[in-house]
Amino acid sequence: MKSQQVRQQFLDFFASKKHTIVPSSPMVLKNDPTLMFTNAGMVPFKEFFLGQKTVKDKRIADTQKCLRVSGKHNDLEEVGKDTYHHTMFEMLGNWSFGDYFKKEAIDWAWELLVDVLKIDKDCLYVTVFEGAKEDELAYDQEAYDYWKKHISEDRIINGNKKDNFWEMGAQGPCGPCSEIHVDIRSDEDKAKISGKSLVNMDHPQVVEIWNLVFMEFNRKADGSLEKLPAQHVDTGMGFERLCMVLQNKQSNYDTDVFTPLIREVEAITNNDYGKDEEIDIAIRVIADHVRAVAFAVADGQLPSNTGAGYVIRRILRRAIRYGFTFLNKKEPFIYKLVSTLSKQMGDYFPEIKAQNQLITNVIKEEEHSFLRTLEQGLILLDGIIKSTNGTKVSGKKAFELYDTYGFPIDLTSLILSEKGMTLNEDEFTAELEKQKNRSRAAATVETDDWVVLIDDNEEEFVGYDILETNVKITRYRKVSSKKHGDLYQLVFNLTPFYPEGGGQVGDKGYLEASNGNVIYIVDTKKENNLIIHFAKSLPKDPSQTFKAVVDQKQRYRTACNHSATHLLHQALREVLGTHVEQKGSAVHSKNLRFDFSHYAKLTADELQAVEDFVNARIESKIPLNEFRNIPIEVALKKGAMALFGEKYGDTVRAIQFGNSVELCGGTHVQNTGDIWHFKIISESAIAAGIRRIEAITNDAVKGYYSENNKIYNNIKELLKNPQNPQKAITDLQEENIILKKQLEILLKDKAKSLKGELIHEVENINGINYLAKKLDLDQNSIKDLAFDLGNKIENLFLLIGTEKEGKAFLTCFISKNLIEEKQLNAGQIVRELGKLIQGGGGGQPFFATAGGKNPKGIEEALENGKRYIV
Ligand code: ATP
Ligand code: MG
Repeated sequence: MKSQQVRQQFLDFFASKKHTIVPSSPMVLKNDPTLMFTNAGMVPFKEFFLGQKTVKDKRIADTQKCLRVSGKHNDLEEVGKDTYHHTMFEMLGNWSFGDYFKKEAIDWAWELLVDVLKIDKDCLYVTVFEGAKEDELAYDQEAYDYWKKHISEDRIINGNKKDNFWEMGAQGPCGPCSEIHVDIRSDEDKAKISGKSLVNMDHPQVVEIWNLVFMEFNRKADGSLEKLPAQHVDTGMGFERLCMVLQNKQSNYDTDVFTPLIREVEAITNNDYGKDEEIDIAIRVIADHVRAVAFAVADGQLPSNTGAGYVIRRILRRAIRYGFTFLNKKEPFIYKLVSTLSKQMGDYFPEIKAQNQLITNVIKEEEHSFLRTLEQGLILLDGIIKSTNGTKVSGKKAFELYDTYGFPIDLTSLILSEKGMTLNEDEFTAELEKQKNRSRAAATVETDDWVVLIDDNEEEFVGYDILETNVKITRYRKVSSKKHGDLYQLVFNLTPFYPEGGGQVGDKGYLEASNGNVIYIVDTKKENNLIIHFAKSLPKDPSQTFKAVVDQKQRYRTACNHSATHLLHQALREVLGTHVEQKGSAVHSKNLRFDFSHYAKLTADELQAVEDFVNARIESKIPLNEFRNIPIEVALKKGAMALFGEKYGDTVRAIQFGNSVELCGGTHVQNTGDIWHFKIISESAIAAGIRRIEAITNDAVKGYYSENNKIYNNIKELLKNPQNPQKAITDLQEENIILKKQLEILLKDKAKSLKGELIHEVENINGINYLAKKLDLDQNSIKDLAFDLGNKIENLFLLIGTEKEGKAFLTCFISKNLIEEKQLNAGQIVRELGKLIQGGGGGQPFFATAGGKNPKGIEEALENGKRYIV
């Protein structure tokens, strides 16, 4: 069965059990302060489990793009080395939100695997939670009893808290789980060792394929458990592992999910898969990692130096490094796999097909730059090796190479072992630990439990219409971190504060109590569908009613920038073409930033056209047309651009200014005329094929022009207020060119007459014509002079010192015949004498120069010249 069909069968089966089938949510999480990537199928539904959003459909099934490379789930180091863990993989899942529970979850899982997909039940094992004393949790007898109906009891295994009690994180929803494992070894192997003894023992052919989680508790900050108001089912089955079983393979990489990529790597790198373990690992790493990076870029996460972008960069670098070392590829090649991937996955995940070109460019550029780093690193490592006494290389230096230059430590070890040397690993680990502790200390956040004042989970946002209203605090908690100190997070029954999201900053403002006391709100964010207001302190009586007031000025400026961002997007597509796609934006009160796909630098004319387009729309005073809570299809019909990154259950909001229609949750001006004016401040590249425009609107433009005007006036004054300042500057420039030329001629003349004088000063010492002298000339003229004298005088040894702007220079010229005859070397001489002027230099044996920062040493250096010939 082809992998495409496997996916479809899963979805069809659960559709037949009355599940709504939804598309995968994004793998990259943009507005979740607790998580960078979706690492399990349940992540997009977190808020349903937490009871912070009401569900429309109580039964859902899907396949979810997951990435396990950071945080609680990190499989990165396993990937490639084993055959069943990936960085990016699909998790097939079925969900019940307060609907069916253990019985149906177990019955249906069995029905699908055994009756529909025809997996031999004699190769299946299941696990059941054995209970945990510390949490006062009993054995999961209920699950055991349901399994017993399907499978012989000796195939039901007890599992401990580590394997069979699923938790979202240190806090939050959790519950016992039951896993299904398959044993796909040969009959021969099965006869030797029982599959039962290999379950959960990291055997590559006895693996977990499906985990059924029965969510029934909430883990609180103090570690205790409380029962959730409703019981849920959350299941996750590894798609690639299921394909391995159904296609009778022994490795995920032998299924058709991976073989097209592997064939391509074989062809490009001229290596065969399946002959050499090191090469196989490298090929698996590359086939796996290109998927993770491609899906991340398609979701809008470019490789970068911080946060989620850095995680993606590290994955790609791991692939490049494996190709470099084990497949001997010193040129970019991974980017070539993108088109194969897009052919293979593009039908179910259209974002990969749509962004094929961008993904290819980004990967190629990253490969280029990291391969350069590797080359440079090799040179630096060579230096470290040369300066090492003995065979043990300093872990500190290796750490520096790793940390500052991004040179992989395993590559360092490998190269050292090839040279019969070793790395001081203890020292390296100690350095790494030190650095980790530093960042851990900075990042630790302590979160208290919510103090619930009013049981109200639906916090209404009223900030599109009003900026001030009476509110009540429904819950609050304290959050402490090194970075921000103690902060209080407040949730209201309703709020006018806009939470950070869609690129727009969160609102600031204050809460006013009836006695006039004020609590400042310093930021607003959204977490699991709750709008959270950050305050430095807590009101004395949190249960009273407060007047909540949004900082109107900041909100207005931000709205101007947000609406201008939409017009800018429209302008870019109009001026540059419809290949332009938004790749990110940041809307602040002071300015806006817009990232978009485009292959070349914008010309001055293009920038002007873009600016004019936006300003024309501002001048036309186009009113805002806002559509709230409309289904996505309706918005698309209105002409809104389809975005990847919407998730199931979202009704959307569409913002229209004339022909600009965008899906957007942000706050906007009522009329484009409010923006007053739009000005582009900068245009630059931020990655291969991605450009960034920074711009300002409204008051900021006034500020910008008045600042520019000030500079203009200052310049005029410096030029002594000429009638035509532009002409005054070109006049100055021309005059400058003429003066330079005259100076050159004068200097040449001076050198000529100097030459005449110098010839007379040459002394003959031991058959060598020697001259050492300090001169007041520029370096170019000295060079000319030296060569001229060299032509005129035989057996010449010339040493000249000069001083310019506090710096010292030495020049040495030696007639070519003397180099051999007298063993003289100008390069070496200036290197040695250079020390006297606190500098260094070099050059050829007959001509060399040195520069230093100590002009006082010139005299001594000149006196020392004689040393070489007597
Ligand atoms: P394992 O012990 O094999 O790492 P897990 O306990 O981490 O699995 P879950 O978190 O329960 O797995 O995820 C549910 C399912 O997702 C697993 O049963 C497995 O089929 C699949 N899965 C988990 N991690 C990966 C991965 N890194 N690559 C591919 N599939 C995975
Ligand atoms: Mg795991």
